[in-house]
Amino acid sequence: MIAADLEGQIYVFNPMAEKITGQSLRHARRSTLSKIMPLEAFEAGEPSIELDKVEDFSRWKSMLDIRQYLMRPDGQRVPIEISVNILEDIKSNLMVITFRDISQQLSYEATIRKNAFFDNLTDLPNRSLFVDRLESSLNRRKRGKPQEFAVLFMDLDGIGVINDGLGHEQGDRLISEIGHRIDKTSRPDDTVSRFSSDVFAVLLDPVDAANGAIQACRRILRAVEQPIQLGATSVNVTASVGIVLNHGNYKTTEEMIRDADTALHRAKLDAKGSYVMFDSDMHRDVKKFLERKNDIQKAIHDGSFRVHYQPIIDLQSGKLSSMEALIRWLHPVDGMVSPAEFIPIAEETGLILPLGEWVLRSVCRQIKQWNTRGMNDIKVAVNLSARQFENNIPTLVGEILAETDVSAESLGLEITEGVAMKNVDNNIRMLEELNALGIDISIDDFGTGYSSLAYLKRFPLHTLKIDRSFIQDITHNSDDREITKAIIAMGQNLNLKVLAEGVETEGQLEILRDSGCDYIQGYYFSRPMPASEMLPFLQDRYLINEQLMELVE
Ligand code: C2E
Ligand code: MG
Ligand code: MG
Repeated sequence: MIAADLEGQIYVFNPMAEKITGQSLRHARRSTLSKIMPLEAFEAGEPSIELDKVEDFSRWKSMLDIRQYLMRPDGQRVPIEISVNILEDIKSNLMVITFRDISQQLSYEATIRKNAFFDNLTDLPNRSLFVDRLESSLNRRKRGKPQEFAVLFMDLDGIGVINDGLGHEQGDRLISEIGHRIDKTSRPDDTVSRFSSDVFAVLLDPVDAANGAIQACRRILRAVEQPIQLGATSVNVTASVGIVLNHGNYKTTEEMIRDADTALHRAKLDAKGSYVMFDSDMHRDVKKFLERKNDIQKAIHDGSFRVHYQPIIDLQSGKLSSMEALIRWLHPVDGMVSPAEFIPIAEETGLILPLGEWVLRSVCRQIKQWNTRGMNDIKVAVNLSARQFENNIPTLVGEILAETDVSAESLGLEITEGVAMKNVDNNIRMLEELNALGIDISIDDFGTGYSSLAYLKRFPLHTLKIDRSFIQDITHNSDDREITKAIIAMGQNLNLKVLAEGVETEGQLEILRDSGCDYIQGYYFSRPMPASEMLPFLQDRYLINEQLMELVE
């Protein structure tokens, strides 16, 4: 604390004042305030206080805790917070100056700022700071700066494998090395940030149109792809990049980040190490995807889905053996939408879980209805998606069978080779449980995946369904014919029944019959149709005949 009169004559100069200013009380008494306490502005462009200017006092009077630099005689610059009070009620006006050294506080503040804006692992700007810089870039454009700028979103491919194989510590070292490399390849004005765990974001401002952004991106990818030594192991990493260019078309950070992210997702679908430039078509695709998702959700709620049934014919007897349940969507605007269009979306969004459950329940209810009309040995196969194996599908099926009072023998399930290839042990266990209930399992679209029959032997299968693509040209393509014959022979060797999908002509039927195929399914016999249209079919071709035979017996 210092007390002085308005001419700058010092009266009080306490020990802490001595310490901070580096001046002694004796010297202070003989000097003046402005000589003892030369101050400089804390930040460039701000005013500095001159303590012996009375006008200044009155200006500063009301201001407390002003930050200034105190210039010490030894040349040190000490950051201080200073308050000036003028005691005017005393005859000779006195001013009381209190100040404190804030060096320590500033270093705390710097650490806090660093933690709030920088990533610990890589020392790069974090997401907050990146968004902040992006905002500044956008604002500069709003004020008329003409140049373009770009955002790159980069995601490391397969970092999970490294974490699993070499441990998280090495995974962290990898991330930090990659961050360092990206930073080194960038220009000083660009912002390289660790946006989230293994996503780096780079703000290129300014950038020379799309070409400039792509060149920068290639440079970064090249740097990232150099081998990285992690302990004794040398690893190679690839990355995917989404690029978005702002040529005045973006107003908010959210929009730019959203589109960079969309482009990144696109890049990840391509080969490893590729980059994709965002274009507005992608936005439209994403919008359409989201709309479809909402539509599916709504359709489940509104009950706009239907199940159609397609007969499966036993080639020996020429009679209906069973049916396949195929979902249909009666869309309010688009009409009948093919499952090929919405099943993939339902799978990706997880909506296949409620949808698949709905199909199982509808089919079982329908079987029950047929049962109550005296048709007891009905059998319907339902298609299952891989994702339905993420939950306990045997329990769900068991519950639905019990709830609808349908016997397990009436239900079949179709899985694709994809189900057989993923989570193999888990899926085999579930399929065995289902099989033990009395449910037949078919492998669908056989021949389009990568599984071999020897491999499929591990699964409790009943029927092999040869994919339509082989049957299509069977009459005039001898390769397809031979493949089909071989599948039939091998399948039967493994004690499986073999079904041919998509049979449309008499000619196809003939070849299949001659090759010893067990079942056929296809437009030649019947298209998939609503349950109500199945009824005469069932009565005519199958059950009534059997009932008649029973009567005759
Ligand atoms: P998929 O299980 O292989 O079903 C056979 C597809 O071939 C059906 O197409 C059927 O209508 C069609 N088809 C049958 N006979 C012929 C024919 O002679 N010629 C031609 N060109 N096509 C024929 P759909 O109904 O469009 O279903 C397509 C796919 O959608 C199904 O292929 C199945 O993978 C999937 N799917 C259908 N319903 C469901 C379901 O409830 N759940 C799940 N997860 N997937 C389903
Ligand atoms: Mg099927
Ligand atoms: Mg199929």
